[in-house]
Amino acid sequence: MYNKYLFKSSTCKSIVFNICLRFHSESVRVRFAPSPTGNLHLGGFRTALYNYLFAKSKGGKYILRIEDTDRSRVVNGAIDQLQEDLKWLGIEFDEGPKIGGSFGPYIQSERLSNYKLAAQELLNKGYAYKCYCTEKRLDLLRRDAIRTRRIPRYDNKCRSLDAEEIEQKKNMNFVIRFKLDQDDGHFHDLVYRNVTRNVAAVEGDPVIVKSDGFPTYHLANVVDDHNMQITHVLRGVEWQPSTSKHILLYKAFGWTPPNFAHLPLLMNIDGTKLSKRQNDITISSYRHKGIYPEALLNFVVSCGGGFSDNQTKSKTRIKTLDELISNFDIRLINSNSCQVPWDKLDFFNRAQLKIELGTVHGRKKAVEQLKYTIENAFLKNEAVDLDLSESHLENILLWSVERITNINELVNENFKFIWMKPSESSLQTMNYDKELIMQLKEHLLNMDSFDVDNLGETLHKFSKSNNIIYSKFMKTLRNIISGLKQGPSVSEMMVILGKEDVIARLSRAC
Ligand code: GLU
Repeated sequence: MYNKYLFKSSTCKSIVFNICLRFHSESVRVRFAPSPTGNLHLGGFRTALYNYLFAKSKGGKYILRIEDTDRSRVVNGAIDQLQEDLKWLGIEFDEGPKIGGSFGPYIQSERLSNYKLAAQELLNKGYAYKCYCTEKRLDLLRRDAIRTRRIPRYDNKCRSLDAEEIEQKKNMNFVIRFKLDQDDGHFHDLVYRNVTRNVAAVEGDPVIVKSDGFPTYHLANVVDDHNMQITHVLRGVEWQPSTSKHILLYKAFGWTPPNFAHLPLLMNIDGTKLSKRQNDITISSYRHKGIYPEALLNFVVSCGGGFSDNQTKSKTRIKTLDELISNFDIRLINSNSCQVPWDKLDFFNRAQLKIELGTVHGRKKAVEQLKYTIENAFLKNEAVDLDLSESHLENILLWSVERITNINELVNENFKFIWMKPSESSLQTMNYDKELIMQLKEHLLNMDSFDVDNLGETLHKFSKSNNIIYSKFMKTLRNIISGLKQGPSVSEMMVILGKEDVIARLSRAC
C-alpha cells in the first residue's frame, strides 16, 4: 500500500541529502517541545540549550511548544515555571505561548482541530484505522507475550476488520492506529549518522488518537513540526526509536521530514541514568541553592562536546552565552553517552562568583543574595542582632571567595560564627583561664593594624611570653570566639569578625 507514498524507502538516502541541501538555503527554525509534567531538569535544560545554540548560531528562530496532550500527566504551573527557569538561564524564545508568533497557538491542547484533520486524512488515505480492542483484550495480549517471553506488542487485529465487523462495532469506543510500514526506517541523524530501524518488525501499530479524542505524542509532534515549519529537530536520544516511526508518518502525509539530531544520554559517573525524579537536578533547585545561571550553562556543556574550542584550557573558563553560540558546531556533538562531571558545577560556580565580585554591579547583587540568605537562615525565628551593612557583607564575600563555591554556604555550620556568637551556656562548659583571656583582650585592643600577619605574630608572642602551648591556646581561643572546633585559622577568623566583634566576644568570656 505504501507505493502511494510520495517517495519509497529505497530513495530515502538521496532524499535526505536533498533535504539537507534544501534547508541550507532556508532559514532555520527549531523548537523546544517539553511536556509540562513537572520541573525542568538538567536533561531538559540541555535539550533547550542546544536547540537555542543551534538556532542562534544559524541566525534562525527558536520556538517554544508545549506538548500537553497526555492530560493525565500535566502538572499545574509547570508551563510558567519552565519559562521562568529558562529566562533565568538567559534563554529567550522568538515564538511561544507568551510571546505569540505566526504559527500559534503554541500549546498543543489548543491545536486539537489540526490533529483531528490530520488523523482523518490518514484514515481517508487508508494509512490509519479505527481500533476497537478493549483494555481487557490488550491486557491479555501483554500477559500472553510475557508468559511466552516475547516483547509485548499489539497484534494489529483491527487492521483487517471487514465492513460488516466495523458496522457492528460502530457504537463502541475506539482509538485510531497508524499502519506501520515494513521499512528499514533509515534516516540520517546529524549526531549518530546513519540510523536504521524497522519499527514494524518490533512494534505493533501505534495509537495516534486516543479514545478521549486527544492525539498521542507521535501524531501531534509530526503535525506540529510540519505546520510550524520546523527545519531541525534536536532532542534526547531516548526519542530516537520514535523518529523512525515519525519518518513513516511524514511519508504517509506526503510531507518532507525535518533534519534530526539526537543528543546523547546524560549519565551519572557510576553509569546510572539521571532520573527526572532526582529532585536535586531540577533547575529551580539549583536556583534556590545559589548556583549562578552562567555556572549551570558552562557545566551542562562541559560534557558531550559540540564546541569548536574544546582545548582543556578553555574548558575551565566561564564562557558567555554569546561565546557558546559562536563556538557551537552540531557536528562535534559526541554520540557516546556523557557522564556528568558533578564536581565541575562547584568549580564553575566559584569561577562565576569571582567574576561577579570583580564588578560593582556583581558585588551589589552578591551582597543582596547574601543578605537574603542570612535573613532566611537566621532571622526567621530568632531576634538576632546582625551587622548586615553593605560594607560588612562585601568584606565577608571577598574574604570567603577562596573558601566557598556558593554564597549559600556562608550560613553553614562552618561559617555560622560570622553571624552568631557562641552561646552563653557553651562558654560556661569550657575550661580556660579567664585572666589570660582578659590580658589577651588588652593586647588586641592596643594593636594598630588588625590583619592576619600581625595577629599571627601577636598570638605567637603572647603564648610564648605566658609560657603556654600555642596550639592548645588556639584551640581554646577558637572555641571562645566561634564555638567551633575546626575551621579557618584563629587569626583569619579574627580578621573577618573585626576588632570590635573579637573584643566583644572575648569580653563575654571573662
Ligand atoms: N514532548 C517531548 C518531551 O517531553 C518532546 C520530544 C521531542 O522533542 O520531540 O520531551
